[in-house]
Amino acid sequence: MLFGRQALFAATDAFPTSDVLPDFEDSTQAPATPSRRRPVAVQGALGREKDLRRWLLVAGLVLLYVAGVAGFWLLDVVEVTTLWVLAAMVVGGFALFGLVVQLGWNGFLRDRHLKVPIVTAMLACMTVVFYLEPVTQILLGPFAFVTVAYGVFSISRKVMLRLMLLALLAYVGVMAAQYHLQQNLALLRLQGLHLLALALTLPVFVLLMGRVQRLYRILHHANRKIKNIQEDAQRDVLTGCFNRRYVLAVLEEQKQLADESGIPLCLAVLDIDHFKHINDSLGHLGGDQVLRDFGRLAQQSVRSGEVFGRYGGEEFLLIFPATSLLPALNICERIRAQIEAHAWDSRLRSGVTVSIGVTQYVLGESVMEFFSRADTAMYLAKEGGRNQVVVEEPVPHADSLSSEFPQQRSR
Ligand code: GH3
Ligand code: MG
Ligand code: MG
Repeated sequence: MLFGRQALFAATDAFPTSDVLPDFEDSTQAPATPSRRRPVAVQGALGREKDLRRWLLVAGLVLLYVAGVAGFWLLDVVEVTTLWVLAAMVVGGFALFGLVVQLGWNGFLRDRHLKVPIVTAMLACMTVVFYLEPVTQILLGPFAFVTVAYGVFSISRKVMLRLMLLALLAYVGVMAAQYHLQQNLALLRLQGLHLLALALTLPVFVLLMGRVQRLYRILHHANRKIKNIQEDAQRDVLTGCFNRRYVLAVLEEQKQLADESGIPLCLAVLDIDHFKHINDSLGHLGGDQVLRDFGRLAQQSVRSGEVFGRYGGEEFLLIFPATSLLPALNICERIRAQIEAHAWDSRLRSGVTVSIGVTQYVLGESVMEFFSRADTAMYLAKEGGRNQVVVEEPVPHADSLSSEFPQQRSR
């Protein structure tokens, strides 16, 4: 049924503009179309990206060490065979760890990212190179610290200290073996001094890094808590859908986006019919349950990208970013039909129905004007007998042609 109606901005219980300001300083943290949990597919992609970054970091550290040894070779202080041995160990190590990850064996371990085996393998490789070329002890010290720093965020201090002890014992073993082979007392003395320096500083470094590790954990937990608080601040306590503050913030954001881009934007106001009667029939707790069920059912019809939230009482808002009036009307009609068709509590003889007003944003108008028009449409749906969707025609500009969508009721 079609109407021609031009005077559209009725006085309404419009919200104060202060309500539409986002809560958080960093608006980039509050996307227009958030979801409570990340979809599994996105989580998987993020996990893979993180894993890739971890492996790239290990590869970078290993390559740095290889570059150091290669530099020694270029300076002619290291045999080329040592370089080949190192290359073989690196390739073998990556192949082995890659296989373990591919087969998913790391999933059985608590240390899923294989940090302890990776640190152990790195230290073992450096010890072998040190055995082959005593001169590489110059590289051993700094790279031992780099290796500790790599593992420090996920390997416990106790395990790290044990690893350091093992590395120092291996160093002593190499010293003994080299002395046995070369009987070089000067070299032994030099290596002894190096060992002393490592034995004194590595454990202290591990202990100090342990403090950094604790700080990192505290920050990590605090960050998670803040994220939860931010999510809760966006949610309506009763229904779990977005709350008034959040929906209005998104509306303001989308209005600005529409102004900048000219992309269409629609808004629907949904009001449950005769909710007072529902409360009278079921009591307030029963009424609360109807609100929860209504929120859940309505959200089933909402497409991803659309923002549905509770405005207050038994009134809800639905924002349709980048959507013109016809698809928005279709979604509203779907919600109306779904609410009507739902098997509600048998004590509600006439079930539950909803009146919906929907309209499209007119470039340059205020959020309040936009909202008022949707609200007016909703009241017209009430006047028209409830359980229907009314489309309110956007105010035509003086120079615009006749509208494609005069006011329209659907049921
Ligand atoms: P209409 O069809 O014209 O919208 O009639 P209505 O009865 O739905 O509307 P009205 O605004 O007169 O009444 C809304 C009622 O909703 C009044 C209030 O007690 C009830 N209400 C508001 N918030 C809640 C809530 O959180 N829980 C419950 N159970 N009731 C609520
Ligand atoms: Mg109401
Ligand atoms: Mg109502």
